[in-house]
Amino acid sequence: MDYISTRGKGGSIGPAEALIKGIADDGGLFVPAQTDIVFDIQKLIDKQYTLAAADILEPYFSSDGIDVTKCAQAAYNEDNFYTTPPVALSYTDSKIFLELYHGKTAAFKDMALSVLPHLMAEALRVKDIQQRIMILTATSGDTGKSALEAFADQPNIDIVVFYPDQGVSAVQKRHMQSQKGDNVHVFGIRGNFDDAQSAVKKAFDSKEVKQTARKHSVMLSSANSINIGRLFPQTIYYWWAYGQLIGDQKIKPGEKVNFCVPTGNFGNILAGYYASLAGLPVNRFICASNENNVLTDFINSGAYDKNRTFKKTISPSMDILISSNLERLLFHLSENNAAYVADLMQQLAANGVYEVNDSIKKALQSKFYGDYAKEADIKKMIHKTFEQENYLIDTHTAAAAHVYERYQRQTGDSTPTVILSTANAYKFADNVLSAIAGQDSDSFEALRELEKVTKVPMHPALKKIEEAKLLHTQVCDKEEIIPLIENLLKEGK
Ligand SMILES: *Cc1c(COP(=O)(O)O)cnc(C)c1O
Repeated sequence: MDYISTRGKGGSIGPAEALIKGIADDGGLFVPAQTDIVFDIQKLIDKQYTLAAADILEPYFSSDGIDVTKCAQAAYNEDNFYTTPPVALSYTDSKIFLELYHGKTAAFKDMALSVLPHLMAEALRVKDIQQRIMILTATSGDTGKSALEAFADQPNIDIVVFYPDQGVSAVQKRHMQSQKGDNVHVFGIRGNFDDAQSAVKKAFDSKEVKQTARKHSVMLSSANSINIGRLFPQTIYYWWAYGQLIGDQKIKPGEKVNFCVPTGNFGNILAGYYASLAGLPVNRFICASNENNVLTDFINSGAYDKNRTFKKTISPSMDILISSNLERLLFHLSENNAAYVADLMQQLAANGVYEVNDSIKKALQSKFYGDYAKEADIKKMIHKTFEQENYLIDTHTAAAAHVYERYQRQTGDSTPTVILSTANAYKFADNVLSAIAGQDSDSFEALRELEKVTKVPMHPALKKIEEAKLLHTQVCDKEEIIPLIENLLKEGK
């Protein structure tokens, strides 16, 4: 497998190089140059998660000699996940939820970030690179902790995380601020996630940063969902869910299903799309947003317009106006027209808007449905799901559940639909508690209260979080990110 840039420059490179680089030199994202990967579902069904994972990762990563079996085994085990298998399907009376939050940070980012460091280590090994690596990551809350947890104390690696200081939940913030490890650096920034993400992208592009990195023999990389080492591991659970539905006799082999995904940077849902390209029978991807509904408008109109007020919501991991991974979908829907994609991205950078042509719009709408949930919708859904179905969901999952109900009403489609549950309810305990019991309490108090009220056991990753010692409390302006990174590069070892 080779990878090429969505913007067409730089030729094709192998998976090891794409893993290490994270982002292409022309600012584009790496996409598979070959799209003839096809999996045989029958061969994946009944396999343990880890073994199925290795089979699925194989065509994407192994061509350079990366040992995907070793990576899968190092990732999907009891050290990193509280359950075996690491994911679960839960059926309520009216819905099917795919629980992706049984890892160390109680959010779905663990599914990919548990394996990414191993893929990177393998990439460095096969390329015989001895240099230090500095991983720069912007986070809307969940990637940060998951990446910190994954890379902490890994030899030869530094991990630097930037999060919006006022844009994450109390638990998310405490999680990141209390991260242990000699190689971890965590900063709050004054601004929102898009500010953090743009600043980090700017740092990657900065001549000074590149020069300093070269001088100190450090390579820069990213743990964001633009890295192929995040994207393809996220396809695994789509296959797993499908196999489980067959095993549970909810569908017959070959029958189509829908996936409804609470979406921010478009990474999770895009992974599902890649699974469908590789043969997974999918009818529709239902893209659920919150009030930052730029994707809803895009899917419905074909026009992407980020010029709107950024809203801070109770589903902060979806508070994003520039969904980076959408660029990859545009590339595939335009039949690999890199010049066209580069032009759209240029328009986005210059004016904050672009509009796709009719054929792309048609292709988009035939595979994707977009809608969004407001704060009241989310709270109502959490309340209803707990009261009527005795099942506890978080704010992001509730946004998806709400959009799924609207989809059903609007289309009458009765295709079995899997709703991806991206975080555990306790991670957003204050808002979940308020939705269920109408009770407002301090964020950490809410954890205990929620357990009292619902009698659903607290996620093990969130116990004692309140007592965790604060180790990183620095907050900076977005303009300070580049000098900060340069300083870290200079400090070196
Ligand atoms: C990151 C995240 C999302 C959004 O996922 P994308 O891949 O960015 O679209 C949704 N829910 C939760 C809980 C998350 O952490």
